Amino acid sequence: MESRFKDPVIRFPARRSKLRRVLFILLLGLSGIEARCQLFDLECVVGDLCSEAHGGRLAGTDGERTAAEYLVRQLKRLGGRPAFKGEWFQSVRLQEPLSGKGQNVAGLLPGSAGSEQPIILLTAHYDHLGDGRLLRSSAGLGEIGQVHPGADDNASGVAVCLRTAERLLSREERSFGVLVMFFTAEEADSQGVRHFAQSSPPGLDRVVLAINFDQVGRLEHELFYELSTVAERDRLELRLQEVGNAIGLALKPLPRLSERTDASVLAAAGITTLSLHTGGHEDIHRPTDTPDKLNYAGMERIAAFAASMAKRFPDPGDRP
Ligand SMILES: [Zn+2]
Repeated sequence: MESRFKDPVIRFPARRSKLRRVLFILLLGLSGIEARCQLFDLECVVGDLCSEAHGGRLAGTDGERTAAEYLVRQLKRLGGRPAFKGEWFQSVRLQEPLSGKGQNVAGLLPGSAGSEQPIILLTAHYDHLGDGRLLRSSAGLGEIGQVHPGADDNASGVAVCLRTAERLLSREERSFGVLVMFFTAEEADSQGVRHFAQSSPPGLDRVVLAINFDQVGRLEHELFYELSTVAERDRLELRLQEVGNAIGLALKPLPRLSERTDASVLAAAGITTLSLHTGGHEDIHRPTDTPDKLNYAGMERIAAFAASMAKRFPDPGDRP
C-alpha cells in the first residue's frame, strides 16, 4: 500500500530540479525529518507502520526491526528515556514457529514525584503476520504471500498508545511516570510480553495500572474493555463508566480477560490491567486490514479516554 507518510524513505518527484532538492533537504534539516507527522497524528503513524518497507512486521524479520527503530524515534520525540537499563530494546529469543530475535521497545516519561512515583504502563504489540505464510493468516489462498499491513491489528493500538502518552506529557499535571511499551511476537503466543514478565524488570511493583490497546481502530458504537482485577472491581467499573460518559464513549465490559493475549500475561504477573479493543471484523489477519478502513476520530476518543483514566488512577482511592 502506498502511504503519504513513508518513513524513513523520502521520495522526490523525478522532475524536481537540483536546486529545489537542496532547498528541500535544508528545510527538512531545519524542521526535523520527523516533523511531517504531527506529534502524534494517528493516521500518519498508522500509515508509517503499515508501509511496505516494514513488510507486515513479522517478529524476527528486518521489517519488524525497522518498525522498532521507528518507534524509538517516536519515543524520543515524546521526551522518553530508554527503559531497559539504559536501552530502548529488550531482545527476545523467539520460539517456533518464529526464529531469530524480536525486540520489545520501551520508553519512560518520568513523573514529577521522583523515582518512587507510581507508574502507569501503556502497552500495545507492534508485530504482525508478515506475508501470512509463517503465522496464522486468515487470508484466502489468493491472498497468502501478500503483505499483511495489520492496520487495526495492531498499528491502531500503537498509534493510540503514543497519542495517549502525548496527552499525558505535562508533568505538572501528573504525579506518576508513564512507561510506554511495544511488544514483539504477540501474534505467536505473546512471546514478547512473556519474556518481559519473566525478566522481572525493576520497578514493576510500582505499576499501578496497565492499559493495553489491541485492535482499537474500528470504533462503531461501543468500546469493549476487560478488566483483570477482582478487588474493588465495582468501584473501578464505575470510574470507567464516568470517564467514558464525560468523553461520550459507550463502554461495554466483557465478562473476563481473553486468554492468550498480552493483557492476560500482564494480569497474570499481578498487574491491574485494562484491555481495550473495538471488536473483530472480516479483515483481521488478512491483507485487507488496511489504514483506510480505520476510524481515526474514534481512536482519538479512545486516547482521550485512556489518558483521563490514567490521570485519575494514581489516586490511592482508585487502586485495588
Ligand atoms: Zn493478530
